[in-house]
Amino acid sequence: MRDGISQGFSDDAPAAALLPWYDRHARALPWRVGPEALAAGERPDPYRVWLSEIMLQQTTVAAVRDYFHRFTARWPTVTALAEAEDAEVMAEWAGLGYYARARNLLKCARVVAGDHGGIFPDTEDGLRDLPGIGPYTAAAIAAIAFDRPAAVMDGNVERVLSRLFAVETPLPASKPELRALAERLTPNTRPGCYAQAVMDLGATICTPKSPACGICPVMSLCAARRTGIAADLPRKTPKKPKPTRLGIAYLVRREDGAVLLETRPDKGLLGGMLGWPGTDWAEDTPQDAPPMDVPWHDPGLEVRHTFTHFHLRLALRLAHVPTDATPDRGEFHPRATFRPASLPTVMRKAWDLAQGAWPED
Ligand code: SF4
Repeated sequence: MRDGISQGFSDDAPAAALLPWYDRHARALPWRVGPEALAAGERPDPYRVWLSEIMLQQTTVAAVRDYFHRFTARWPTVTALAEAEDAEVMAEWAGLGYYARARNLLKCARVVAGDHGGIFPDTEDGLRDLPGIGPYTAAAIAAIAFDRPAAVMDGNVERVLSRLFAVETPLPASKPELRALAERLTPNTRPGCYAQAVMDLGATICTPKSPACGICPVMSLCAARRTGIAADLPRKTPKKPKPTRLGIAYLVRREDGAVLLETRPDKGLLGGMLGWPGTDWAEDTPQDAPPMDVPWHDPGLEVRHTFTHFHLRLALRLAHVPTDATPDRGEFHPRATFRPASLPTVMRKAWDLAQGAWPED
């Protein structure tokens, strides 16, 4: 195991270099209390920190910003969120992906509101006991919301540490080593600011393809910069190619404009979300499973969408039906209350693709 000293610097050197840099260059984020406000006595709201951390799993600040504003405007406290209808929360989450997170978000809000009087636990262990909060998220909330010296790891932190110590073992095998390094470097003074400083460094300077080493506050410490391999790190074990699955989505429009949707089963992909009735998604040719016995129009269109573990090719079938038609599956939703934006991305893509292709248009 390498350590800071064998690299020619002490374990507190990165924090000593990063904290003054963070004081000048911290990103303004809607859930963040910046260094100046912190110094003036303002404290982060654990609800906002938690919400941002759940939303940021697997995605970027840019993708999350609008969702965060909408959620906090509509549900300004964890108690308000706990009282929300499941379907409303799922609809607001639509488009962010990884829908199990939205279900766990509600579960967690209800546990905090019901069992903890609306107050988040302020330790890593206490936070990990809550639904949907794993080790990374617990460490991040403990550090950012409660200034605990928790070792926070995310993609940005892994990249910065891989480079600072020139770790050549590929990810994910290097994770335990990187975590041990993160623990060594986490300071007892201002650990929350330090955690955010490393994340900001990774997001703004130590970026994946072209690290801006010339303006980096830890350049004098960085082993990868010295050896000229910064842009090659972290190394990654090549991923297996993803399989392709096939499916059919059945889009039905009634004469009065209502559309046929069904709620997907709670367990499984897009669980609990509204979507178009359809076949299973499998690697074989999909078996017909239309939700109504009507003539189906094949517009020759398919949605292409990539999930974590597979690519999907979803063929469309369209039907226009009279107002008194009764489906075998799903429910008609009046056009006035149907919001395509409340559908998961793959379902919204299907809706967008169908426009202009309906049989009667
Ligand atoms: Fe990243 Fe370059 Fe800074 Fe090293 S010197 S931490 S590679 S930006």
